[in-house]
Amino acid sequence: MYRSGHIITSLLVYIAIIQYCYSNLFSDYLLPIYLIVNVFGALTPDIDIYLKRIVKVVSHRNPITHSALIPLALSPVITIYISYFQLYTAFSLGISTHLISDIPSRKAVDRLSIGWSRVWLLLNGIVALPIFSSNWLYIIF
Ligand SMILES: [Zn+2]
Repeated sequence: MYRSGHIITSLLVYIAIIQYCYSNLFSDYLLPIYLIVNVFGALTPDIDIYLKRIVKVVSHRNPITHSALIPLALSPVITIYISYFQLYTAFSLGISTHLISDIPSRKAVDRLSIGWSRVWLLLNGIVALPIFSSNWLYIIF
């Protein structure tokens, strides 16, 4: 999917979810910042396109950038700095929608077959959802 497709998909999903979950968020003066962070999250997995110019072993659809790793790694920080939770939600949801909207693509995640690539993107897309990624420490331990 192209960059604009990722941005539009992510914003639509994010706006639908916040309208459903937090009815007062549209009156939040920080909403424009959340929307920007959501777009930033939606574009983050494709940093591999820029990384491969610097690091030759990286290729597009890298299995690390196209995974739930960043939301999972940020979640312990969010349990300490809970006031940033809305930013975390917007960012993680951006990554999640990016991974899930990459599933129909014919280009597989690097080093995976197209079938395993779709399984990888679906599982990581689900795990990257803020409701899972923010609580994984509590779910596992
Ligand atoms: Zn991608």
